[in-house]
Amino acid sequence: MRAELLNQPAEVNSNPLKLADIPRPEAAPGEILVQVHVCGVCHTDLHVVEGELREASLPLVPGHQIVGTVAANGDGVMRFKLGERVGIPWLHEACGICEFCQRGQENLCPWARFTGYTAQGGYAEYTTVPEKFAVPIPARFSDVEAAPLLCAGIVGYRSLRLSDLQQGERLGLFGYGGSADLCIQVARHWHCEVFVFTRSPAHQELATKHGAAWVGRAEENPPSNLDRAIIFAPVGSLVPLALGHLRKGGTLCINAIHTSPIPEMPYDLLWGERTIRTVANATRRDAEEFLPLAAEIPIIPDTQLFDLDQANQALQALKHGQINGTAVLQVRH
Ligand SMILES: [Zn+2]
Ligand SMILES: [Zn+2]
Repeated sequence: MRAELLNQPAEVNSNPLKLADIPRPEAAPGEILVQVHVCGVCHTDLHVVEGELREASLPLVPGHQIVGTVAANGDGVMRFKLGERVGIPWLHEACGICEFCQRGQENLCPWARFTGYTAQGGYAEYTTVPEKFAVPIPARFSDVEAAPLLCAGIVGYRSLRLSDLQQGERLGLFGYGGSADLCIQVARHWHCEVFVFTRSPAHQELATKHGAAWVGRAEENPPSNLDRAIIFAPVGSLVPLALGHLRKGGTLCINAIHTSPIPEMPYDLLWGERTIRTVANATRRDAEEFLPLAAEIPIIPDTQLFDLDQANQALQALKHGQINGTAVLQVRH
């Protein structure tokens, strides 16, 4: 089968992915073989390909926003029929028995494997996944429309969930990338008022289009305080700024794998039972709740298509901020 293979991480401008002909994987017991139709291209892929995330199993097929159809079932598999459409997100597998898995926090499982990082991903014609970790794709979506929902969408939904946002509350979003753009649509569906803090005029415009009641820069004062806030930008200095607008008892959720240091700040900003918490990827529950909700709203993401053999170009465009919406590789024509 054709696959875009990473043998050694390198700067993406040097075209580190090579189009290769490799054996088609086989579904092990408990797994399904998926014929990949499309695979979204995520910032995390960029960090894997460039080696900032250091534990990639090389040689690696990247990609973790996979939409395809079941092409074969391994032994003992009964969840999906052949030909059924499924999605494969970042969480590829978790152990199911550790304390985190038992608590419903399988995203924190120390033995978890991640699609397109520590397990083979979707920049290829076929891939495999344990059947329990594949997600049904609602009929409302085309393959291409569904792909961005599988990462930015699911993680954005978890951020909303962990922020404890209630119907009708006021939400602040700091930073406005793909995840925030999907989040705002869910929050508006829940009749929440949303304030968006971003310095990019293009992002301010997009946020307004998707229902933001107020847009401005992080240093600006919004017209009223926030019940909940989510930070998407990896900028630690946003933490005291966001807390400064958060009401007593409110929640600040940080959705960033890494962030610059959080500056020293007066305790008053946190006092009054304010909560700060972080979001680490997502669980199957997030995926299984979010996709039907996205279909009901509906949320139709903006996408930019590339062919499989243009994976390097797609990553380069992403790195240089030239993608509107989400880049998606078209694998099956
Ligand atoms: Zn991702
Ligand atoms: Zn576990």
